[in-house]
Amino acid sequence: MKKKLLVATRNSGKVLEFSRMLSDMLFDVVSLDDLGIDLEVEETGSTFKENAVLKARAYAEASGELTLADDSGLVVDALNGEPGVVSARYGGEGLDDEQRVQLVLDKMKHLPGWERTARFVAVLALAGDEVEGGLATSEGVCEGAIMHQPLGKNGFGYDPVFWLAWHAKTTAQLSGAEKDEISHRGAALRGLMDTLNGLT
Ligand code: IMP
Repeated sequence: MKKKLLVATRNSGKVLEFSRMLSDMLFDVVSLDDLGIDLEVEETGSTFKENAVLKARAYAEASGELTLADDSGLVVDALNGEPGVVSARYGGEGLDDEQRVQLVLDKMKHLPGWERTARFVAVLALAGDEVEGGLATSEGVCEGAIMHQPLGKNGFGYDPVFWLAWHAKTTAQLSGAEKDEISHRGAALRGLMDTLNGLT
């Protein structure tokens, strides 16, 4: 029987990316819904790593399964690192992805191209008794810049305004496989591959 790996996120964009990236591995990848876990873990940490660890530990304890959690977000230099750890709820809980993107664009509307540098950051945390020390973490970064208007329909969150100069595309214009190759989440997951492979 394959070993279960709980991917502990309710963000459908992330679920899709993780399912894609883990599809070749010898794990039975399950979601919080698959296991009927309705626990909500508050992201009280001040760094991506703190929040990723918090979520991975809490869901591993609740499920008893090997658990992978991530905390990620957009870091804009001209906004002093905002939206950062509050990327998912920037501007308040009432906004949707499109409105959050617009908020970032409004705050940056007078900034020229060279002042629009930004990066996506993801920290993954893998928690479970079978992991050495109970926990492993990995960080991935994807460098880019913020567009003046949205472009592209793929992905989620801030993808339509995240410009990759070397691709001359936003991350919302990449195919899923293309995004996995260059994304912060892809890079962070590759950093955990040896650990994961050792557990199958
Ligand atoms: P978390 O669930 O607190 O980690 O929220 C992460 C938030 O950061 C998401 O809801 C998005 O707004 C943003 N984000 C993280 N990764 C990506 C990405 O790959 N594309 C676009 N937005 C992202």
